Amino acid sequence: MTITFLGTAAANAYPEAFCQCDNCERARALGGPNLRKRSAALINDDLLIDLGPDIMTASFMHGRPLSRVRYCLQTHAHADHLDPSHLLSRSPEFGVVGAPRLHFYASTATARRLAQLFERFYDSASLLDPKVGERLNLEIHEIEALQSFTIGRYHVTAFPANHDPTVGPLLYVVEADKRCVFYGVDTATLPEETWQGFHRHHLRFDVVILDHTYGPEESGSDHLSAHELIEHVARMREENLLTDEARAFATHVAHEGNPVHPELVDFAARHGYEIAYDGFTV
Ligand SMILES: [Zn+2]
Ligand SMILES: [Zn+2]
Ligand SMILES: [Zn+2]
Repeated sequence: MTITFLGTAAANAYPEAFCQCDNCERARALGGPNLRKRSAALINDDLLIDLGPDIMTASFMHGRPLSRVRYCLQTHAHADHLDPSHLLSRSPEFGVVGAPRLHFYASTATARRLAQLFERFYDSASLLDPKVGERLNLEIHEIEALQSFTIGRYHVTAFPANHDPTVGPLLYVVEADKRCVFYGVDTATLPEETWQGFHRHHLRFDVVILDHTYGPEESGSDHLSAHELIEHVARMREENLLTDEARAFATHVAHEGNPVHPELVDFAARHGYEIAYDGFTV
């Protein structure tokens, strides 16, 4: 199983469009891994996590075509994770008829928000109408926290996030090829229900990917901070949720309090985790 980070920034990218803070100015000057697009990830070439606004830019820049994506796991409906306009390219005119169907998984709240946005801006019909799904060769599956399902060669379990409850946010564990990955974005400190769920499903992670919205000098609030990420990884190790060779990665990095990439890499190395960057594959 390979995981490619298509984007590793929090809400408005890093640097942000008009921001002149020290971190954004330094990131612009340094370029390379200091430039972060909005968070999304690709597992192998067929499983996308989040239909985000920057996935096509990422696809071009990092040489990862998305035309083979058959499954999308949507964390939630915030704009930095969901751009429904991508689904316009599933019109019959664009060659998706007869191609493998796209299976899209989201909580009911997020699926409804997606359908509303699509209906309002791009189409007069609802994405939740099976006729529209047929036309776009797309099937939307509404799922719940703590539900497990099998898609192709992947076994997936959704977990509750500690994030905006109006969009029913979900975190995902993906298992395949005897490997286990946890994608924990967007969330503040994980709910106890999620920790209990990890144990109930007897999970041991090879790769943990966690929210790192706030930097080393900040406290977390609606998202995790650097120190909270460190505490989460320590608890996972204590509770035997990590394999011996497990690696922990930070993503969803905001310009607020997170220094440019090389400095953040140094900080993370001192605390036993790694900083993901756009285009990085593990
Ligand atoms: Zn986000
Ligand atoms: Zn800034
Ligand atoms: Zn969010």
